[in-house]
Amino acid sequence: MRNQNPVFIPGPTNIPDRLRAAMNVQTSDHRAPDFAESLQPLLEDLKKVFKTETGQVFIFPGSGTGGWEASITNTLSPGDKVLVARYGMFSHRWIDLCQRHGLDVEVIECPWGTGAPADLFAERLAADTDHTIKAVLATHNETATGVLSDIAGVRGAMDKSSHPAMLYVDCVSSLASMDFQMEAWGVDLAVSGSQKGFMLATGMAIVATSQKALAAVETASCSRCYFDFRDMGTANKNGGYPYTPPIQLISGLRASLDMLFEEGLENVYSRHFRIAEGVRVAVAAWGLRLCAESPDLYSDSVSAIYVPEGFNSDELTNHAFNKYGVSFGVGLGEMAGKAFRIGHLGELTDVQALSGLATIEMAMKDLDYPIELGVGVAAAQEYYRSTTTAK
Ligand code: PLP
Repeated sequence: MRNQNPVFIPGPTNIPDRLRAAMNVQTSDHRAPDFAESLQPLLEDLKKVFKTETGQVFIFPGSGTGGWEASITNTLSPGDKVLVARYGMFSHRWIDLCQRHGLDVEVIECPWGTGAPADLFAERLAADTDHTIKAVLATHNETATGVLSDIAGVRGAMDKSSHPAMLYVDCVSSLASMDFQMEAWGVDLAVSGSQKGFMLATGMAIVATSQKALAAVETASCSRCYFDFRDMGTANKNGGYPYTPPIQLISGLRASLDMLFEEGLENVYSRHFRIAEGVRVAVAAWGLRLCAESPDLYSDSVSAIYVPEGFNSDELTNHAFNKYGVSFGVGLGEMAGKAFRIGHLGELTDVQALSGLATIEMAMKDLDYPIELGVGVAAAQEYYRSTTTAK
């Protein structure tokens, strides 16, 4: 039987008992009046998490990748030019998805460990005097490298050249764990999923659109059917879905939003910051290095950590799993073998975070890493006990 240890992967997260219970509900009729009555408040509440008043939210069965596809196919046409930077595995996969949909993708290659390059975007946009670039794509939190990008800065770069391109942002691993301001940052399409900040099972792509993006749907000619905003929008307006909705996940989402609002979104963000800081002081105490190149890029939902020269991070994560039954994130893409990741998003407590740090520390010691057992945990303990407020 699988053990009950928490996972330290950067999503799916550990699911709080309250949300597991909320998803464990008997089938109910999605054409009954009570589903219709519950849907609109849910969509309105999601807007508070995206921080948009004028936008519209869609919940599709799927995952974050489905959200990418929905955002692209609803608003763009084959051959349309999009500008995007590659600085990790998820920005890479979004690029791949765009290419496979026949878009003309202008890629800016950036070192992994850096974030969305607002200055380079500004240069390319300024040079695009014919306005052939239809969209700029940015991954807010690059889960592969633990890098958080400055989306307001990207918007600033776009505004500087008065370029009309739309801004598409992947907030799969940032929404509901770090601040995201769709309206203030001028985001036209924001893509997320159920299994990260919302702490639910995987299975929903949660997408928010601006009115400008909705208008683009009318002329966009990429093939779409299942993810068509128009079908979903019309059905939602009538309180329903164009197909069978994932009732149990939607029930979980209601409870997730209730949990987030009870704590208060700003408190959720500061809790994530505290937990993440504890992990970062442990990393420093081990003498290891984060992939994120500078503190302004640090993610509060995941830390990607380089292993020392001569060590293989896959061996470390395998060992932690095989000997202690605890999962950590493996290195992805360019980071394979070079870095492991500690996911610290969702309902983690100080105590749970410490258990993860203690486990990876034991695993490193077992594999003869040049660390002293306990130093990372002690550093995190000091940080947590000096910053905690009574429960
Ligand atoms: N974007 C980011 C930043 C992610 O972290 C992930 C998944 O981890 C995805 C997109 C893809 O989402 P999914 O695996 O839910 O399809």
